[in-house]
Amino acid sequence: MPGSGGDGSIRAIDTHTVHRITSGQVVIDLQSAVKELVENSLDAGATAIEVRFQNYGLRSIEVVDNGVGIAPRDHEGIALKHYTSKLSSFEDVSRIHTFGFRGEALSSLCALSDGLTIATATASEAPMGTVLEVDGNGRLKSKKAKVARQRGTTVTVANLFRPLPVRRKELERNIKREFQKALSILHAYALVPCSKENKGVRLTVTNQMENGRKVVQLKTDGTPSLRASVTALWGTRALDNVTDLDLSFHVETEKSVLRRQKQASTDSETSPITPVRVQGLMSKFTLGAGRTTNDRQYFFINGRPYNAGKVQKAFNEVYRTFNISQAPFVIADLVLPTHACDINVSPDKRTIFLHSENNFVLALKVGIPRESVFVCAFDLRG
Ligand code: ADP
Ligand code: MG
Repeated sequence: MPGSGGDGSIRAIDTHTVHRITSGQVVIDLQSAVKELVENSLDAGATAIEVRFQNYGLRSIEVVDNGVGIAPRDHEGIALKHYTSKLSSFEDVSRIHTFGFRGEALSSLCALSDGLTIATATASEAPMGTVLEVDGNGRLKSKKAKVARQRGTTVTVANLFRPLPVRRKELERNIKREFQKALSILHAYALVPCSKENKGVRLTVTNQMENGRKVVQLKTDGTPSLRASVTALWGTRALDNVTDLDLSFHVETEKSVLRRQKQASTDSETSPITPVRVQGLMSKFTLGAGRTTNDRQYFFINGRPYNAGKVQKAFNEVYRTFNISQAPFVIADLVLPTHACDINVSPDKRTIFLHSENNFVLALKVGIPRESVFVCAFDLRG
């Protein structure tokens, strides 16, 4: 019988296998692997982050930061599952302001690679640090103290997906596309998180092929401004025909959501109306000001990149009513109270559940043309 022990009986899967299966949901591809490492650096307060790919990440992915480092008391358990410095109880999830909170990324990366090497130093240890080697089960394999290291952390992941031969093959076969996807999410982090977090973050991404030179893929200069990040990624011309997006509106909570919130008695934050701000940049609504495709559209909720779905569609629909043949450049950060969305939906946290999404989209559609056209008109006069 397929899927059973052969004799048809049902048994528990051994914990090692379970770990590998669940890890595969946190780190589903190259993109999510690198995203988790960059988020850890941002959470550690880094103002400079360097992402180094070797062979597009097939050989290794390394993220170097100047954050707070990992304290010696945390070395032993650093990559054990659910080991996190950021969250201690479920109540905290709705209020979380760090990118990570599950304590799953490092342990998953261990299970899905040939292991991690972590070099780290806290402020009091620097300029000396420690190099930790962690095995596939997240256990500390070796620890070398007194290694030269400025304050911060370097995490190196070698041979991603090697323990899963099929997935490794897939990665090798599609590596160019996978690498582009990884670069795309790094663009998202370069735009909003790097201009908003830690008073500005210098992000550098490089790739080096076997025997080749290191090639810079993208770079921000640490200026805490969205426009500066856009310029750093695509040049000054990228801001031509782009206007500030700053909408404020209220979203009426949908009845089903209110009902659900009332039932879950732990949630005291039910409210019939939610104040929202949408901030960022967008193409002007004049003819020819947009782009031929929707290649530059990035969405965030409270500074966290997310797959926008209906919200993205709303932006495109509204834009098309003014400019039928083009798609807008859009960078939109939806700023809303943490109880109005749920980030704990998918293990990779790319899906964010927006409560009352339909009402949100309706309010947004009213908001976009009114304010942006006003800005355009103002621009024309100026
Ligand atoms: P999470 O981010 O959900 O807490 P992770 O598995 O990503 O879980 O990381 C586990 C812990 O390791 C973090 O809570 C943090 O304390 C520490 N850590 C990981 N990466 C870094 C880093 N770059 N700098 C400092 N601490 C780090
Ligand atoms: Mg993390």
